[in-house]
Amino acid sequence: MFKPSTRHNLPALTADVKINKRQSTSASSSSSSSSSRWPYRLNFYDQPPVLDITLEEFEVFAIARLRVLTHIEALSHRSLPFPQFSSAVGTYLKQHLPLSSNTARNVNVLEERRKDEIGHWVLRLAFCRSPDLRARFLRSELALFRQRFETDDAAERAAFLKSLQFDWQLVDAGEKARLETELKTCLWTSGTSKDEAFRAESWFKVPWHTVPDLVGQRRVYINGGMAYVPQSLQISLVLQAFGSRLERALELTAKNLPRLDEDERLGPVLDHLATSFLSGLGAAEYQSESDGNGTTVTADMVDDVARKHFPPCMRNLYDRLKRDHHLKHFARLQLGLFLKGIGLPLDEAVVFWRRMYGATMSDDKFNKEYKYNIRHGYGQEGKRMNYAPKSCQAILTINQPGTQDSHGCPFRHFSPDNLVIFLLSTYPQLDRSSPEMRDILDSVKTSHYHVACTRVFEVTHGLKKGQGLGPDGETVTHPNKFVDRSREMERDRMEAIKAKEGGGDEDVKMD
Ligand code: SF4
Repeated sequence: MFKPSTRHNLPALTADVKINKRQSTSASSSSSSSSSRWPYRLNFYDQPPVLDITLEEFEVFAIARLRVLTHIEALSHRSLPFPQFSSAVGTYLKQHLPLSSNTARNVNVLEERRKDEIGHWVLRLAFCRSPDLRARFLRSELALFRQRFETDDAAERAAFLKSLQFDWQLVDAGEKARLETELKTCLWTSGTSKDEAFRAESWFKVPWHTVPDLVGQRRVYINGGMAYVPQSLQISLVLQAFGSRLERALELTAKNLPRLDEDERLGPVLDHLATSFLSGLGAAEYQSESDGNGTTVTADMVDDVARKHFPPCMRNLYDRLKRDHHLKHFARLQLGLFLKGIGLPLDEAVVFWRRMYGATMSDDKFNKEYKYNIRHGYGQEGKRMNYAPKSCQAILTINQPGTQDSHGCPFRHFSPDNLVIFLLSTYPQLDRSSPEMRDILDSVKTSHYHVACTRVFEVTHGLKKGQGLGPDGETVTHPNKFVDRSREMERDRMEAIKAKEGGGDEDVKMD
C-alpha cells in the first residue's frame, strides 16, 4: 500500500505516500494544502495522505505512535478509574505524540499533525494482518481518540464534528415534550435536577444498533428502532462512527496487503512494528540513571540490590548464578548488561563475576575466557561498542530460551506451574490464592507479560493496583527502569526517615 515512487501505485483505498531516501519536505515548509489538510486537531483519518516522506520518517513516526498505543493498552489492562487512565495517557501523549489545538502558540501544529497522521497510516499497514492485531489496534486507537476528543478545545471540537456531517436526526421540541417521561427515565440524575437536566438537554435519534454501549447501560430510550441519545453522551456516537470506519478500513487494507510485499524495504519495518505490538512493548529505550548521580553499585552491593530491587527476570538469573556458579552465554549477556545499566563499573563487574564462579573455575580460565567477554560488554574489547542493557521487548522476543536455558522473561518463558513456584519462593508478599496472584496469572494468560511484571512491582512495593512504576501508572518496559524506580522509592523513604529523625515535623510516608 505504501509504495516507493519508483513503483506502481496501489489503489486509492490505502495511503498513497511516496517514500524517498532524500530529506522530506517538512510540514512547516510545505504548501498551503497542508493547513487545509489538517484544519482540526482531531482526525478520523478518512483520507489517505498524499505526501512525500522518508523511510526514516516512515519508521520513526510509526514507533512514536506505537509507544503511545502500547502504553494505552497496558493501562487499559490495569482497570484504572477513567480520570486516572485519562491523565496517564495525557501525560504520556505530551512526551511522545503531542497534538496541539489551533490556538496553541510556539508550536509547529502542522508538523505535529503530519506526524500523527503518518504514524496512524503506517500502523494500519502493520496491524491489519490478523483479526487479533486489528482488534487490539482498534481498541487502542479508540482510547487515544477518546482522550483527545475529551481534552479538545470546545469550539474546535464542535467545528470538527460539523465537518463530519453526521446524519444524526435532531429531536425537535414537539417530540421532546411528547416523550418527556421516557427521556427523563434515561437521564442519570434525580430530584429537581432531573427536570433541569431535561430542559437543558437536547437529543439525537440514531439507529439503536449503532450505540450498543449506551443500550447496554440503559442510557437511551429506544422507539421504532431508533435510540434517543442525549447530546451529553455524544462521545458514544462519535466513537462508534470512528470505530466502525476504522474497522472497515483495516479489513480493506488487509485484502490489499499482499501487493505491498513487492517492496522489500517496508516489509521488515512493518514486521518489527507488529512484533513490538504483540509483545506489548513500544521499543522502549533505556536511559541509564546511574551516570553521575551517585548510584554506583559495587560487587559487594549486588546481593542486597538484587534482593530488594531486581525485576523477576534478573532475580531468576542472579539466584541461579548464586546456586550453580554458572550461567550460559545469553543469560550472562542479559544479566551482565543489566548490571552495567544499574551502575556496576567494569572493575567491579570483574570482581563480581569472578566471585560468583568461585571454585568452579580456575583464575587462568576466568582470565582467558570470561574476562574478555565482560570487558567486551563494557566496550573495552572487539568493536568497542557501548552495548545497551536489554529491554523487555528484546528479552521477550529475541534469542528464545531452550529448555536448558535460564535467560528470558519468567512470565513468558516459564510454564504456569514453574512461574507460580518461582513467584512464591521469590516474593513473600505473594500468596498462591491471593487476588494479586490471580491478576498476575490472568495477565500472563492474555500475553500481557509486562502488565504481570508491573503488578509484581506494585505488590512488592506496597503500591495499589494501577499505580505502576510512576506517577502516571507507567508500565514496566525495561528491567533497568524497574530497578531504578525501586531504588528511587527506597531513597525517598530513607530521606523521609532522616528528615523525621532530624526533628523535622513532616510526616514519614511509608509506601
Ligand atoms: S517484563 Fe521485563 S522486567 Fe519484567 S520480568 Fe519480563 S523481561 Fe524482566
